[in-house]
Amino acid sequence: MQRYFIDESLNLEGIFVLEKDDNHHLVNVMRAQNGFKIEVVDNQSHLYLAQVIEVENRQAALKVFQELDQQVELPISVTIASGLTKNDKFDWLIQKATETGMSAFIPLSLKRDVVKWDAKKTPKRIERLEKIAKEAAEQSHRLMIPSIYDLMTLNQLFEITDDFDHLVVLYEETAKQGEHQALKQLMMDVKPGDRVLAVFGSEGGLDESEIQLLMSKGFKETSLGPRILRAETAPIYFLSAVSFALEIN
Ligand code: SAM
Repeated sequence: MQRYFIDESLNLEGIFVLEKDDNHHLVNVMRAQNGFKIEVVDNQSHLYLAQVIEVENRQAALKVFQELDQQVELPISVTIASGLTKNDKFDWLIQKATETGMSAFIPLSLKRDVVKWDAKKTPKRIERLEKIAKEAAEQSHRLMIPSIYDLMTLNQLFEITDDFDHLVVLYEETAKQGEHQALKQLMMDVKPGDRVLAVFGSEGGLDESEIQLLMSKGFKETSLGPRILRAETAPIYFLSAVSFALEIN
């Protein structure tokens, strides 16, 4: 069943219309007529079943008829902050990180990035990543769409670290030194509702000066195991480990 997100609070028997693009999809792509059922998630992350009650001038009106109780979100909120990788890899990262439960994404400008974002094109890139996150959230039946933040430098990231309960930097050199305990310790330390900020390097990795800065701000160097993962793979491994530790074992 198709799932849509709506930026308003819904309730049982409530009547509503979808936002422009979603209405177009429902009416013109799904060719919905009266009685057509959808899943809809409101801005309180409540999931409902709704059905089309009228289609007029290509605008569908829908009525909520059942609330569904589906706990599909990770018990903790994970924000992924990653150095800039090539477009298609970022697209893939956002899609897979949404499927594996990411709450928010921060593109980070780091010293060893092989890609630089042109300031004028950044808003369009963010818009593109938001669209990918929305589609992946619908497909994976999430109850929220991950937020995509604007491009940040490390100093700008440090301005928001107080919003988080745990700060980790996934560091390849920690892995190479064979120190793999930190991730398990993090999973033992987190409590439901905690907010985790996880920093990742891009293809070039993290510069020693960046690691020193991150550690001075309270970030814990953490290994993802003995193999060196691609920049787009590492966040997915991290989110999968969180899911395994907190959801399915
Ligand atoms: N250029 C680096 C090198 O050759 O050592 C590799 C960087 S890796 C492609 C990109 C990012 O993924 C790293 O900066 C780190 O954040 C993360 N990463 C990859 N494998 C990891 C591991 N085994 N442990 C911790 N972080 C890892």
